[in-house]
Amino acid sequence: MRAAFFDKAGIENLRVGEFPDPVTTGHDVLVKVHTAGVNPIDYFAISGRHGLKSGPALVAKPMPHIAGAEIAGTISKLGSHVKDFVEGDRVAIYSRLFDGTCDYCRAGLEMLCRTGGIIGVACNGGFAEYVSVPSKNVCKIPDGMSWEEAASMSVTALTPFHALREAHLRAGEGLLVFGASGNTGMVAVQLGKMAGASVIAVSSKGWVRDLGPDHVIEDRNTVVEQVREFTEGKMADVVLNSLGAESWEASYESVAINGRWVTFGILTGAQVSLDLRSLYNKQIKLMGSTGGTMEEFRELVKEVKGLNVRVWKKFGLEQTRDALDALFAKQRDGRIMLVF
Ligand SMILES: [Zn+2]
Repeated sequence: MRAAFFDKAGIENLRVGEFPDPVTTGHDVLVKVHTAGVNPIDYFAISGRHGLKSGPALVAKPMPHIAGAEIAGTISKLGSHVKDFVEGDRVAIYSRLFDGTCDYCRAGLEMLCRTGGIIGVACNGGFAEYVSVPSKNVCKIPDGMSWEEAASMSVTALTPFHALREAHLRAGEGLLVFGASGNTGMVAVQLGKMAGASVIAVSSKGWVRDLGPDHVIEDRNTVVEQVREFTEGKMADVVLNSLGAESWEASYESVAINGRWVTFGILTGAQVSLDLRSLYNKQIKLMGSTGGTMEEFRELVKEVKGLNVRVWKKFGLEQTRDALDALFAKQRDGRIMLVF
């Protein structure tokens, strides 16, 4: 099959060519990839660093390796023990490997599995014509769901879906979303509105208004003042900052008394300083969130209708390198997808 692969860490080592077909046995299914989302995790899996310029090493295996965590496609072959699917089923793939037997899995927290990992990092991923995955990671998609939407479920949509659950966002509360035009940000704005929250989106992109936020803050330097004005001094009950250090202070100052601050990303840096007095005086909860559970993934795919996923550029498999470079382009204006 054709695949984008690398034999050692480094974006410069990525090439597209012939790769051995995946072996599909037992409880696995072979999926013919139709669309793959391109995310920072894929870039980092290839670069071997968990950060843009530096950061701790991220070891992809096996080598040579195929990245690609976010996958939608059609089942083309079933392992001998697979009963729940038939060839031709259109599916989205949950991107966390999990054993189903450890204490976290038994508690329904598959993304925290003790022996787990991310598809495309801990095993070969979807930047290829075919990928073989455990059938328990696979979910059929509704007839009306587009391939772009299906290929946005497991990372782009599930990550904010779980984070807002983790933060217990309730109807009538205020939600502040940093990076609202980013992959996860655009979904967070929509999920916030679906939950009945009043949503303030931070983004300089005009199209973010089409996602339905109550307010948009275009100037990142006036976030705290504007949140104060929009909330009549109360500030935001839930603040979602997946951008990291650069917007840490503005995001923390924007949390309401008894509010929740939640993150799942560090694109602009991981180190921040915190005055603990404000944390307990305002009874603020600082929360980390990663991925989402298998049950949340199924709920998202089956029941959350009409998510608007803005796609900026589509590339073919042969242009995987260009797709990865576009991920951090200044002019980027929506999602990047590989379509085969
Ligand atoms: Zn487990």
